[in-house]
Amino acid sequence: MSVVSIKPKIISKKEIKEEIIYDAIIIGGGPAGLTAGIYLSRARINTLLIEKAMPGGQAVLTEIIENYPGFPEGIDGPELMQKMEEQAVRFGLKIEYGEATEVRIKEGKEAKVKIVKINNQEYNTLTIILASGAEASKLDIPGEEELRGRGVSYCATCDAPFFKGQKIIVIGGGDTAIEEALYLTKFVRELTIIHRRDRLRATKILQERVVANKKINFAWDSVVTKILGKEKVEGVLIQNKKTGEEKEISCQGVFVFVGYIPNSKFLKELVKLDKRGYILTDANMMTSQEGIYACGDVRKKILRQVVTACGEGATAAFAAQKYIEELKGVSYK
Ligand code: NAP
Repeated sequence: MSVVSIKPKIISKKEIKEEIIYDAIIIGGGPAGLTAGIYLSRARINTLLIEKAMPGGQAVLTEIIENYPGFPEGIDGPELMQKMEEQAVRFGLKIEYGEATEVRIKEGKEAKVKIVKINNQEYNTLTIILASGAEASKLDIPGEEELRGRGVSYCATCDAPFFKGQKIIVIGGGDTAIEEALYLTKFVRELTIIHRRDRLRATKILQERVVANKKINFAWDSVVTKILGKEKVEGVLIQNKKTGEEKEISCQGVFVFVGYIPNSKFLKELVKLDKRGYILTDANMMTSQEGIYACGDVRKKILRQVVTACGEGATAAFAAQKYIEELKGVSYK
């Protein structure tokens, strides 16, 4: 997507007074949204951040973040995110809890006022920063939904203590699966990683650690076709993709880490998405709609990390600031 140069029409003071509540609404309080909040608050842009659960996004579910620069020993996810929230609030960011269920353009206005529906209430804004992140993918296999919370989990940090001394399986071969598997070995007796290929997707340093861990063994080229158990997980049925051979593995827990799906459904067709639902932007984080920006895990990109989310949040905020200032006729030229 090419970089779009925007020259918004100047909006009248009367229109701002009557119609506009916020200059910017940020949807999502993960690292991308909070960083955008820090930048906009420091620029004294009237901003509201909406978060549906608790600020911090996926990073809150990460025991330790080792690749965020400036912390040679790593930093634990909740601590880093709490600091980002504190920093944003310190500069005056207003954070409200709620779920954005609809975003649309207010029709018939000279300047494009946007509307965000939050908990059935509508808010007007000049710009929107979409930082709604992504959520864990499901396998959609028999037993998964039925045994969710009864042995099936998508969060090691949340559920690991329930599996102390037990035998579990982890499904997936990416960074999340391997990091979480390593964390889970602090609690469990034995862990099998089931991966559909014969090698891992995860970063090499994680691969080295997982191979060296005595509690972990692998079932390569294999997929789980069914999670077994009535009241709670008792095992899984797996199939080798190369030989077709099927076998049962008994276990008490199944952790699923097979990627993420972007939280972009509420946008319907407002902005351009790729076929998996990730938002397309230009280099300034602007979407296909003027004045609407996207950053973090919900955006189509090559690398999903806290550090990239923060960088994109800052860029989106700065681009939104410039847009708002042009719209109000107060830009510094
Ligand atoms: P991911 O990189 O998309 O990996 C998902 C894994 O699940 C892949 O190995 C994939 O297999 C497997 N998989 C997908 N669908 C499956 C299915 N239906 N059945 C069985 N296996 C399936 O997702 P992720 O590991 O959650 O990572 C998401 C992003 O966050 C990545 O960009 C990652 O680098 C980043 N991340 C980074 C860190 C870190 O830097 N410390 C930590 C966590 C996440 P295939 O390999 O065959 O596709």
